[in-house]
Amino acid sequence: MGQQSPALSVVVPMYNEESVLPLLAERLRGVLDGLDETYEVVAVDDGSTDATAAALRGLRERWPQLRVIRLRRNSGHQAALNAGLMRSRGEYVVSIDADLQDPPETIADMLALARSQNLDIVYGVRADRSSDTAFKRLTAGAYYRMMRRLVGKSMPAQAGDFRLLSRTAVEALRDLPERSPVLRLVVPWLGFPSGEVRFERAERAAGRTKYPLSKMLALAAESVTSFSAAPLRVATWLGLLGVGVCALLVIAVVVAYATGHTVSGWPSILVAVLFLGAVQLLCLGLLGEYVGRIYTALLARPAYFIASDSDPGDETDAGAA
Ligand code: UDP
Ligand code: MG
Repeated sequence: MGQQSPALSVVVPMYNEESVLPLLAERLRGVLDGLDETYEVVAVDDGSTDATAAALRGLRERWPQLRVIRLRRNSGHQAALNAGLMRSRGEYVVSIDADLQDPPETIADMLALARSQNLDIVYGVRADRSSDTAFKRLTAGAYYRMMRRLVGKSMPAQAGDFRLLSRTAVEALRDLPERSPVLRLVVPWLGFPSGEVRFERAERAAGRTKYPLSKMLALAAESVTSFSAAPLRVATWLGLLGVGVCALLVIAVVVAYATGHTVSGWPSILVAVLFLGAVQLLCLGLLGEYVGRIYTALLARPAYFIASDSDPGDETDAGAA
């Protein structure tokens, strides 16, 4: 492929996906070869420890459009996605999960829609999540409601990281100073003309989810703090509430003394002290989240390191954009 930019790049982040790789390659290749477009598939191996790297090497021998970027260590889905996006060269770039939950056939619809309506972003929107567990549906629902409140209505509900971006949109992302933005929030925020393509989310074709609850919580925390300082205001409101309650208590105590009743009972004092202590800890923790973000931003460490790129072109940067 060399330096020529293909019409389409397909970015696939993968972490320990040896079991789905043969299925993915067959189905994705079938779709892409049928499109009659020049394309590259950018497989980002997110520091896999299984046979993913070897399998990719094997695939490359038979699939010249496959480009393999390996990250030095496991850096997480978002970082891997960013790495692939930043190094992709296509006129349009589609990001897709490796586990075939996002049907590759939809790529054709996304491309057609983007071209016909001159859109910079086409979201893949899940028409149906019945293949996900009830727990995943519940937590995902809460997540999207919360994020839509922060980002605004331009963020489609139920749109994950299966989407198409134009070269212009990718360049706009590259120009952001953030190291590894939460893409599903930042992309709608960019404000480009966008459209949606609905698709049925399938079940994972093979292997296990790489998103345990801990990673889901981390993504949620990062999503909120990367987009809004509003939670910090919770501390102010709680403080004001505390002041109000205290003022009422002081009046009650004064009245009790004046009318000859001494205030009795230490449990009420204990409860009040414990409550205030808990509120203070909560607010400190909240503050800590943001201080932590400032700290990481200040360190400005790359979100990922490129260990190798099978088709590096003229880019020689060793780290993140
Ligand atoms: N993934 C990754 N790095 C990670 C975790 C996941 O590149 O640290 C990839 C994974 O291989 C898959 C995609 O991100 O292609 C989505 O992950 P998964 O399907 O496990 O998440 P789920 O669909 O269960 O939310
Ligand atoms: Mg999946």
